[in-house]
Formats: sequence, structure tokens, C-alpha cells
Amino acid sequence: LIQLFVPLNLLGFVYREIKQSLIDMEYLFGLLDADREVADKPDAKALVVGGARLSFQNVCFGYDARRQVLHDISFEVPAGKTVAIVGPSGAGKSTLSRILYRFYDIESGHVQIDGQDIRDVTQASLRAAIGIVPQDTVLFNDSIAYNIRYGRPDAREDEVYEAAKLSRIDDFIARLPDGYDTRVGERGLKLSGGEKQRVAIARTILKDPPILLLDEATSALDTRTEREIQDAIERVARNRTTLVIAHRLSTVVNADEILVLDEGKIIERGRHETLLQAGGAYAAMWQRQQESAG
Ligand code: ADP
Ligand code: MG
Repeated sequence: LIQLFVPLNLLGFVYREIKQSLIDMEYLFGLLDADREVADKPDAKALVVGGARLSFQNVCFGYDARRQVLHDISFEVPAGKTVAIVGPSGAGKSTLSRILYRFYDIESGHVQIDGQDIRDVTQASLRAAIGIVPQDTVLFNDSIAYNIRYGRPDAREDEVYEAAKLSRIDDFIARLPDGYDTRVGERGLKLSGGEKQRVAIARTILKDPPILLLDEATSALDTRTEREIQDAIERVARNRTTLVIAHRLSTVVNADEILVLDEGKIIERGRHETLLQAGGAYAAMWQRQQESAG
């Protein structure tokens, strides 16, 4: 991480250096911001990924020693399965994903991937194994092809097109004046939230990571966009171990397990039908969402 401690105007250099392990500027800024105590151990080994089983055991964490944000969190995501995290804003959902990506080290407990503690492996190998589709994707002021290829800079052209197709963004690109060469980002064409998210999905398809971290957008998408994104997400999540911070009902309904997080604690857990029958916090959330969607 040494090369990260540089002025922001050197970011261009920095992200080329670490592009193999990082996928999004948001996370790069997150890193610059993050606790600088996170460092590779002298004897850190590369993570060896088999099925990519994730395990959080008795995880406690606070950004500040005076205020604990996560209290004794334990759960597992079996290889290739999907666990959804739901709960009110501020519950600690995004914090869980930052811990998995090791922006921060936990105070007590363990986070393991295929039995290896993430503090014992190199950060580069950990981050290479995880693909992130963030809540809000930041695009570079460059062509849309560049923005997709960022997931794997040495990808061939046909692989970029295939990723765009799988993420349901190819038709949109075909209609742009300069196609894949169209400049996007702050100084180019501004994409909608749904379009940006599909670019992020295309990047992740190129990166082809065994573990997927999704932070679904909270903002209401129109039904067609929602369906397109959902379809793209299902494709990228298939056969990958997936942890999703879920707002969309469809993701939650199909998850292998749902964790309801509130004030840093898991207050309910189970599959959708089971939680509905239990008639607790999840059932109430579901009811509210159904009414507002109706
Ligand atoms: P959620 O994603 O469920 O909305 P977060 O995980 O982002 O919640 O935040 C959980 C708690 O941690 C909140 O109280 C939030 O204010 C606090 N928090 C989040 N990020 C930071 C940070 N970088 N420094 C200090 N506190 C933070
Ligand atoms: Mg969040």
C-alpha cells in the first residue's frame, strides 16, 4: 500500500499500479481514506481460493474505539451461494463489505475465505479474488470501452463486447454516436445510475472473480431498468460466492440466506419465506416495500 500515500494528482499513476487488484475509483478513494494500519504481514501468503466459502465469526468492529459499529457478527456464505444483508441506513451493511475487502481490520473475531484468515494473506491476492459492484460507480473521463476494460486491462476487444452483452449494456452502447469510443464521465456523456451500474457489472464480468460484493442502489429505478440490471446481476452472480447488500425485492427473495442487520447486530436471519412467516422486522420491512411498490 506504500504507493498509495501520494498526492491525489498522482492517482493516474497509482491506479495503473494497482488496477489488477482494484476495480473502482470509489474504492481507491476509500483506501486512501482507510486505516493505514492495514498492512500485509511479513509472512503474508497469497490467498488460495477453492470454492470461495466466506465466514465471519464473532466479528466486532468500530471506526472509532469509542463507538462500536458491528457487534458479534457471525455468518457464512457457502461456496457459490448468495447471502443478502438488509436493514435500515446506518445499520452497518457497507461496513461489513469494507471489512471483507480489508479496508479496515477488525477488533476481534475472524473473517475467513476457504479457511484462511484475511489478515494472513496479501491484500493484493485478497482483492484480486473479490469483484465489487458498488452503489455508485465512478467512471473515468475516457471511452466507454476503456471504462469496461478497466476490469481486466489486457482483455481482448471481443471479450469487452461479450462482457457488455452479458451485462445488458451493449444495445445502449450501439446507439451512442461513437459507439464504444464515446467518451463518458464528468467531462463526457453522463450515464444514468442504471447504465453506470451495468458498466460496473461488465467490468466485474471481465475480472471474473470467485467472490462478488454487491451494494445495490437504493434509488428507485424504473421497472425496465430494474429488470435489466437484475438480469445482469443474476448472470454475474451465478456460481460465485455472493454477498449482497440488498434493496431489490427479487435479490432478497432468491437469496440462500437473509441477514437482517440493525444497529450493528443481526436481529433476524433465514430464508425469505421463513422470515415472512416469523412476522418480525423483516416481514414488516417487506410489507412496507410492497406497499410503496404497489
Ligand atoms: P449502512 O451501509 O448500513 O447504511 P454503514 O456501514 O455505512 O451503514 O455505517 C454504519 C455506521 O458506521 C454508521 O453509524 C456510520 O455513521 C458509521 N460510519 C460509516 N463509515 C464511517 C467512517 N468512515 N468513519 C466513522 N464512522 C463511519
Ligand atoms: Mg451503505
